[in-house]
Amino acid sequence: MIYMDHSATSPVKKEVFEVMKPYLKESYGNASTFYSLGREAKVAMENARENVAKLIGANPEEIIFTSGGTESDNIAIQGIAYKLQSKGKHIITSSIEHPAVIETCKGLENKGFKVSYLPVYKNGIIKISDLKKAIADETILITIMHANNEIGTIQPIAEIGEVAKKHDIKFHCDGVQSVGKIPVDVNKLNVDLLSVSAHKLHGPKGVGALYIKKGTKLKPILFGGGQENDLSPGTENIPGIVGLAKACEIAKLELENNFTYLTNLQEKLIDGVLDNIEESYLNGDREKRLPGNVNFRFTGIEGESIVLMLDSKGIAGSTGSACSSKKLTPSHVLKAIGLEDLDSHGSLRLTIGMENNEEEVITVIEEIKSIVETLRSMSPLWKKK
Ligand SMILES: *Cc1c(COP(=O)(O)O)cnc(C)c1O
Repeated sequence: MIYMDHSATSPVKKEVFEVMKPYLKESYGNASTFYSLGREAKVAMENARENVAKLIGANPEEIIFTSGGTESDNIAIQGIAYKLQSKGKHIITSSIEHPAVIETCKGLENKGFKVSYLPVYKNGIIKISDLKKAIADETILITIMHANNEIGTIQPIAEIGEVAKKHDIKFHCDGVQSVGKIPVDVNKLNVDLLSVSAHKLHGPKGVGALYIKKGTKLKPILFGGGQENDLSPGTENIPGIVGLAKACEIAKLELENNFTYLTNLQEKLIDGVLDNIEESYLNGDREKRLPGNVNFRFTGIEGESIVLMLDSKGIAGSTGSACSSKKLTPSHVLKAIGLEDLDSHGSLRLTIGMENNEEEVITVIEEIKSIVETLRSMSPLWKKK
């Protein structure tokens, strides 16, 4: 099998699995207890906090562990909204956020908050001038993702953060796709809050982290035993936390190497498809793009059909996001970059990882070419020339 859906999830690295094992078996203590088994768990957790912090240039006290990217986004956005609602009830986000952000914002709209969704234009990137125009006296929060999960575009986070700072507005960034793949330094990026998820960087599913800049106050949205500064209560997921930390440690060491390797395969895949298949297009910006991400569209055919046929050849890709591919609605991201409904149904996302190699990329290009030809020969939407 050729797995090219790393933006949906990534395989757990062997070294990550190895460090997790003892905490599932002999070192199973509850980190909130005071005898040695519990203290052992607590020590492992605090060491893990240091490794996660190091990857993003934060202090360990600024990291809380969560159940993943979705929980981190919810804690950050709702936490700021409810904490600062007496100052104002306006939030600014983009039109291409992950559902974990969009749906949270929609939930807040139902509670009387106002949300502005910034356009992203054809290249999938917001304009700072639009952001400045959207800011009002009531604006309390800006939440904009670093790298998009469907089209891989990278937003000007440091500049957005500067604008936020100048206006004394809190800035949350969903860094789930970018952390571990491109340099992320919370201070250089001027963010107050940043979401991380382990399974997108070769860690386990169901665990993540939220960076909360020192001094930033959040209103809790979950209630229980008070763990993680009252913000993510519940017995700590020590195996997951230890796995996340190992994945972060490896990502930090390998970041530069991986960036070069993935960019090279990405370029080969993009050129191979665009040069060999007529009326094929790349969605999103070619340059400001996450290494390993490609998102194509092919006139006259549906993405779902390509994904199914690739699957029958043992190749795992997707139409966009794992979350939206269940609903047969066009992707909100592709609509936001100006594609018509027909075109936004025709997309294929392939996200390359470190286990992929050049030979696989060549195989994938050949398979796509033959699948596109087959589908077009049957498609009433494809006018034969
Ligand atoms: C996957 C993803 C999430 C959700 O993370 P989970 O850990 O799966 O809850 C949030 N934001 C982005 C950009 C993602 O790609």
